[in-house]
Amino acid sequence: MSKLTGKVALITGSGRKNGIGAVCARRLAVEGASVVVTDIDTSFSDFPNYKVGAKDELVLVKKDITSMGGKALSFFADITKPEAVKKLVEDTIKEFGKIDILVNNAGGSPGPAPLTQFTMAAWEKTLAINLTGTFLCCREVVPSMIGTGGGKIVNISSRAANNGALWMHAYSAAKAGMLGLTRSMALELAQFNICVNALCPGDIQTELKQWGLEMEAGIKGTTVEALKEEIARATPLGRLGTPEDVAALVAFLASPDSDYLTGEIINISGGYGLGNATARPTFQ
Ligand code: NAD
Repeated sequence: MSKLTGKVALITGSGRKNGIGAVCARRLAVEGASVVVTDIDTSFSDFPNYKVGAKDELVLVKKDITSMGGKALSFFADITKPEAVKKLVEDTIKEFGKIDILVNNAGGSPGPAPLTQFTMAAWEKTLAINLTGTFLCCREVVPSMIGTGGGKIVNISSRAANNGALWMHAYSAAKAGMLGLTRSMALELAQFNICVNALCPGDIQTELKQWGLEMEAGIKGTTVEALKEEIARATPLGRLGTPEDVAALVAFLASPDSDYLTGEIINISGGYGLGNATARPTFQ
């Protein structure tokens, strides 16, 4: 029997085929969980240039999982909307009976800007997606976990929560807010056998990362490839991360192997920030 057999997992922001959320959903399904993949359908009308949404891809992610023999459902929901989250959780419980694992992966930001040019709308949208959305999903899912005797919540924060990120003020603040939320929920929910942990990924190769690097390359007058080489050089493990790297850690945090772990913030960044990886001596 696989580690997650009989468990039900809901993974937000899992509609992009090669995004962290979809890869996590596939991994949890391989471990035996029934999974619900969910995403927003279209981009936000107030931010037409912000590449968000998975209108056509979400159903393909679901099909991909069912074609490998997994059990999967897909629902569209904008996690910034309380009513939409409520319906998402109700629909999931109607079909699968419960929710044991919640991965709060949906996230992002309309884009970088210097502080004095940062608009109120971009600030609010970013906090809504990353922080309020996580809060709303937890609030709706937790009663089911309490009812079944426990659960696992994994919040996907970011290295930006700890280090900041140039011109990404709202994103850094929202991701840092997720860490406080993780710890306070871990404190409250331990009595119900619900473990709440957060991950801080570094540079993970996804569409979102590519978009961020394209913007950064434009601002700095360099190329995406040059930026990737720079990141790899600054990373002790010598490469950018993959969604599969993150999914392996999510699978661990969703499994009974992590039953004595709660309120933890785990970096997954190939050792980025440990020291100067470029000054490696050539010992034989
Ligand atoms: P991604 O764009 O593939 O995933 C984010 C998903 O969230 C998208 O599918 C998007 O449509 C969805 N989403 C956005 N707003 C939503 C809303 N209101 N309701 C529902 N869904 C919504 O990017 P990714 O790189 O796979 O990122 C996944 C998570 O990891 C995000 O939270 C991101 O902030 C975080 N992260 C990524 C990296 C990286 O380098 N890729 C680094 C640190 C943290």
